[in-house]
Amino acid sequence: MNKKVRVRFAPSPTGGLHLGGVRTVLYNYLFARKHGGDFVLRIEDTDQTRFVPGAEEYIYDCLEWCGLSPDESPLKGGPFVPYKQSERKSGYKKYAEQLVAAGHAYYAFDTPEELEHMRNAYRVDAHSTAQYDKNTRTKMRNSLTLSAEETKTLIENGTPHVVRIKVPENQTIVCNDMIRGVTQFDSNLVDDKVLLKADGMPTYHLAVVVDDYLMKITHAFRGEEWLPSAPVHMLLWDYLGWKDEMPQWAHLPLILKPDGNGKLSKRDGERLGFPVFAMKWHDPIKNETTSGFREMGFLPEAFINMLAMLGWNDGTGTEIFSLQELVEKFSIERVHKGGAKFDFEKAKWFNHQYIQNKSAAELVPLVRPYMPEAHAGADSSLLEQVIGLIKDRCSLLKDFWVQGSFFFETPVITELQAVKDKWSDTKKVFFEQFAAALKTTTDFNHAALEQMFGTMATEAGLKKGDVMLPLRIMLVGGKFGPGVFNIVEVIGCDEACKRIALAIDALA
Ligand code: GLU
Repeated sequence: MNKKVRVRFAPSPTGGLHLGGVRTVLYNYLFARKHGGDFVLRIEDTDQTRFVPGAEEYIYDCLEWCGLSPDESPLKGGPFVPYKQSERKSGYKKYAEQLVAAGHAYYAFDTPEELEHMRNAYRVDAHSTAQYDKNTRTKMRNSLTLSAEETKTLIENGTPHVVRIKVPENQTIVCNDMIRGVTQFDSNLVDDKVLLKADGMPTYHLAVVVDDYLMKITHAFRGEEWLPSAPVHMLLWDYLGWKDEMPQWAHLPLILKPDGNGKLSKRDGERLGFPVFAMKWHDPIKNETTSGFREMGFLPEAFINMLAMLGWNDGTGTEIFSLQELVEKFSIERVHKGGAKFDFEKAKWFNHQYIQNKSAAELVPLVRPYMPEAHAGADSSLLEQVIGLIKDRCSLLKDFWVQGSFFFETPVITELQAVKDKWSDTKKVFFEQFAAALKTTTDFNHAALEQMFGTMATEAGLKKGDVMLPLRIMLVGGKFGPGVFNIVEVIGCDEACKRIALAIDALA
């Protein structure tokens, strides 16, 4: 590779970023870093009917959370400003005109009604409509069927018109893809896509080719759903005379539903109870909020690691990679052709690994935002102690509250029945004496407390095992949590005695 590597992520800001979108960012980023290249973020917002307030900002925030910051972007600037297509609007028209002049594109004046008529009148298959192509273009109102004079007059009179590409007949269009090799397209099946709309705005097809060229993009990686558009793009690169500058392509495999049955959608997440967006997204138009991995308590490093493995591996079976290791190991040729099934349990496994690898002190600021407001200001050393005791039970940052709320609040006892069934006067007296002993002991640490508890149980003629579960349920509310004497040590004498007394009352 002698040219400097330049890749781009070119989202249309229409909503939250799906897992697949973030993975496209990631593979672009890794490739750029590995080859000492540039990673460009370009906002493709030429379709103003799809404008959604907040969607662009969401993309910036999302890349920042993921730690995948671009080298050039609308926020950062760069040598090819502006990086937002709506701000580049005036630049595209001349390329459309150039294509018309060379006979590779034409003006089309058809009204929406005429287009609708064409779709129905010329269909060959009862199940699908006709497209604007070699078969139908001859029957429409465009600069191919009208005389030069008529065309000129229509344009001068301000008749609304678009520019369409004239797709050639009987050609095989070849896309050489770094992942899937040679893909061939029959030009007879490709329609004459609109390149420039009536409002003078380019469509995605024209804008993406022009900007990839002007921004000197060397490699274009995007989702597989764009493969059907590839032949139009190949033709444009050729017709604009830029073939030698065309980027190398890679169409990334789809991320599939857990059962492998089709592309993973937002709806699947809602149905199966997991997020498919990186961060929470609120759509102000539909007034709809969609949950995100961040809010669920994923660490960005774990999220990124998990995403990297959805469609790639290094061949050794290793699954845990830091971003730096991914940069070193990643290669686009090792990206799989087939779709990757998303498995939420596996995603949580990744997060669990990353949580375990952090110290309790490192986790304090990460867990804090997932605490309910009343405890968000909890003492850091208390939080650290609690995190240290429960982190092996936590896969998500939000699990810390679920697993540890009883350290901060007197719990509601949900499993009283488990104690009640075997409750006795002897046990009642034992717990009263244990609470009294807690108040007088000078050695308030878990090992000493356990020792004291054991001795007292024997003296009362009870088996330690018979009073351990009741103690846990008194303190925790249920049959879970870390070592019960660690809990006593952390919540302290007053709180432990209070909970024991409350439970004794409830059992009476
Ligand atoms: N604007 C397209 C999108 O929304 C970009 C596709 C491409 O990378 O060519 O994903």
